[in-house]
Amino acid sequence: MEKVYSSLSEIQKDIYNNQTTCVSLVNDYLKRIEDNQHLNAFLEVFKEEALQKAKIIDEKIANKTAGKLAGMVIGLKDNICYQNHKISAASKILENFESLFSATVVERLIAEDAIIIGRLNCDEFAMGSSNENSAYGNVLNPIDNTRVPGGSSGGSAVAVKANLCLVALGSDTGGSIRQPASFCDLVGLKPTYGRVSRHGLIAYASSFDQIGPFSNNIEDAAIVMEVMAGGDEYDSTCSNREVPKYSEKLATPQKLKITYFKNYIENDGLDAEIKAKFYETIDFLKDAGHEVVATEFPYLDYLVPTYYVLTTAEASSNLARYDGIHFGYRSPQAFDLESTYLKSRSEGFGDEVKRRIMLGTYVLSAGYYDAYYGKGQKVRRVLKEKTDEILNQYDFVLMPTSPGTPFKIGEQVDDPIKMYLEDIYTVQANLVGLPAISLPLGQHSNGLPFGIQVMGKSFDEEGLLAFSKYLMDNN
Ligand code: GLN
Repeated sequence: MEKVYSSLSEIQKDIYNNQTTCVSLVNDYLKRIEDNQHLNAFLEVFKEEALQKAKIIDEKIANKTAGKLAGMVIGLKDNICYQNHKISAASKILENFESLFSATVVERLIAEDAIIIGRLNCDEFAMGSSNENSAYGNVLNPIDNTRVPGGSSGGSAVAVKANLCLVALGSDTGGSIRQPASFCDLVGLKPTYGRVSRHGLIAYASSFDQIGPFSNNIEDAAIVMEVMAGGDEYDSTCSNREVPKYSEKLATPQKLKITYFKNYIENDGLDAEIKAKFYETIDFLKDAGHEVVATEFPYLDYLVPTYYVLTTAEASSNLARYDGIHFGYRSPQAFDLESTYLKSRSEGFGDEVKRRIMLGTYVLSAGYYDAYYGKGQKVRRVLKEKTDEILNQYDFVLMPTSPGTPFKIGEQVDDPIKMYLEDIYTVQANLVGLPAISLPLGQHSNGLPFGIQVMGKSFDEEGLLAFSKYLMDNN
């Protein structure tokens, strides 16, 4: 009978005891993908290839030469390059474009014998919080099909939740891993900026973007991070700091110093049950002997505006390359250079992407640069200094991941400002470059899940993962 696995350790136990094989595992995933097509999580399934790969890895397992991810089946958000495979960033403008090389993270995962099973739907160019901005249709939340899975890495979250792969990679510019993890009851980690190479990630806002994992548990996130992280000559913003063996460093932490920002919790926008669960978690930590102190972060109201000024500016520049000439789609109506740019971009990009390109172009334009982009950068510095000052005194900051539980499909599409406020608790980690994780700790009386978020010190993924495991084990 088909067995559904939710961790690599369970899988490897059965593989190495000859209870199952990679081929049989991949067949099970393929069957579930087939049965769950209505969720629209996958844009493409690499069926034959995954099976072939599985066969090779089964031989390596028999020879005892398999890598440490043998048995792990992974899905890729459709903005992470995999050589000779299509990649579209869920945009029409990249329809039928194929990657010429693989992202560094993909190479590293494959080198440890992970099997890549397909590419996953997302918001176009990773812009959105609900996966409703994909050119290839909505993704449905497997917990309630009338609701969004979150975004922008919606397909990645859904694929893991519905057991269509064990782990998925997403990218997080302002919450795109953590918020869908919260909406789909999963672990979702955004690493420190520079911990994981961005080489081969289609850029949205380069100074914010990081790749990270979705998983059912901390152990799987830890081992994937251990394989993916570390210096890369193809990404000069990627740090050469040594990568700890995260998966071996998950022991219960000693007495910790934790803070939370009272003004984030005593906020009208936050759901009452999420707030109650948050305080329950705080009480647990206090009772367990940790020092928990309420502080304030005075700049909450500046986070979302600063994020949208700076990310749209970077996006307008990063997306200039999709011109109807270099990549993907070209308008059949184009007849000269200008009409090629104009028509290809008008027809190829969706509304949200166009809105952000226009906003970004505006904040960078000669007359407004100082007032918006220059100001935004200065505010970013203030946010960073204030956050660092707090994390010099505390090990972790605890906060909600998202102000509410998954909303209905279509409910917020006409209100971009409301949609942008979805990001209120997640953008801080990207603005200041710190690692943050969403943990599936909450269950609302409406039947939907929600996450609690932990933000850690720079490059302390090790501590963050160990603390996360502790919180999950004691939930
Ligand atoms: N929801 C945020 C946005 O729309 C975050 C996106 C992301 O992290 N890629 O920009």
